[in-house]
Amino acid sequence: MSQQFNLQEKVAIITGGAGVLGGTISNSLSKAGVKIIILDRNQDIIDAKVKEIKNNGGEAIGFETNVLDKSTLEKNRDAILDHFGKIDILLNAAGGNMPGATIGPDQTIFDLKMEDFQKVTDLNLNGTVLPSMVFGEVMSKQGEGCIINFSSMTVDRAITRVVGYSASKAAMENFTRWMSVEMATKFGGKIRVNAIAPGFFIGNQNRRLLTNEDGSYTDRGNTIITNTPMKRFGEAEELNGAIHFLCSEAASFITGVVIPIDGGFSAFSGV
Ligand code: NAD
Repeated sequence: MSQQFNLQEKVAIITGGAGVLGGTISNSLSKAGVKIIILDRNQDIIDAKVKEIKNNGGEAIGFETNVLDKSTLEKNRDAILDHFGKIDILLNAAGGNMPGATIGPDQTIFDLKMEDFQKVTDLNLNGTVLPSMVFGEVMSKQGEGCIINFSSMTVDRAITRVVGYSASKAAMENFTRWMSVEMATKFGGKIRVNAIAPGFFIGNQNRRLLTNEDGSYTDRGNTIITNTPMKRFGEAEELNGAIHFLCSEAASFITGVVIPIDGGFSAFSGV
């Protein structure tokens, strides 16, 4: 690999690193020589992920966290700095949806539970803002760093049902641009903040919405495929290239952008 894309000896934090997408990206960064820190909610899934990376010859540690709890994140930060001495990369992959913030087929917006709307907003917006503050501050002192947030296809156009998820990812995308400007203007051009917007990848959170028990697609799954020019769902590994690129020197003048990785979904009018 050319020097421009070299990530050897970089130190990367992946929140939600024991999840489907964060976990796949962690494996891939580890294979590129990156030292991995898995932050997730539950020690068992963290330990399993760390073990998997080590078994494949990588270097990894992991800590239980809650991306909504600043004092826990600060403890994580201190432990990470004790261990690795620096933080080069932050991937804010922790996020997701919850049933109460979704409008079911027999419901309307007037059935929305505000409590759940608030919880999903907390997770997708505050759960990116808080780690960006705690770990971004370390980057501001180092004078370099790279933050990548996880947006979604729900941001630019309405996707039925997922009202809370959509609003919170949209706010998070705006924060990505805001934070990119803040870091570049106040702390120099070597701290970059970008996002990826994965299209439709079958994962733990949406498997039941998109596939039936026999593996065939649900009506919603079929509608997505119809509107995806490549006529398939994404594979988690297909996010790796964009992540490597954004983390590397090859992206040194790129900040505040959101890269769709969606088989053409966001480009297609449906006609
Ligand atoms: P996932 O559920 O497999 O992984 C998310 C991880 O975040 C889980 O391991 C979970 O334990 C962790 N997490 C949740 N709340 C947390 C908290 N408070 N503190 C710490 N960790 C917490 O989901 P995924 O499919 O891998 O998605 C990863 C990211 O990509 C999410 O932000 C999701 O919204 C986004 N995304 C996913 C898709 C998709 O198709 N899968 C599409 C677009 C965007």
